[in-house]
Amino acid sequence: MNDCVFCRIAAGEIPARLAARAEGALAFHDLNPRAPVHVLVIPTAHLGDAGAVGGDAHSVWPAVMELAVEVARREGIADAGYRLVINSGSDGGQSVAHLHVHVLGGRRMTWPPG
Ligand code: AMP
Repeated sequence: MNDCVFCRIAAGEIPARLAARAEGALAFHDLNPRAPVHVLVIPTAHLGDAGAVGGDAHSVWPAVMELAVEVARREGIADAGYRLVINSGSDGGQSVAHLHVHVLGGRRMTWPPG
């Protein structure tokens, strides 16, 4: 997936501000943060969206979600609270076709989303 920007970040081919890494998952700061803390957590192997997880990729959810929770701790937002968001597919507002979890915090979140 040479044309996938998040695969290229995982491969170290394009720069990103790394937040954490774990077996099978990587966390880096969003280029266009929507909150004081805005980190993206990706599986290092390419999966297009949430629907691609399953079968051989069944270990992706624990790797990605555990790193997301760890990022919240490291970024100091775990006690105040935070939001984990997965935009999946076009109606879900996904703009980068590599599964990612947004870790958002550092301010009070609104609900419902727009
Ligand atoms: P989504 O709209 O859910 O697909 O989220 C994609 C996110 O990726 C957006 O918040 C973008 O700001 C972010 N993004 C796109 N390219 C990069 C990049 N090279 N480094 C960090 N974040 C990026």
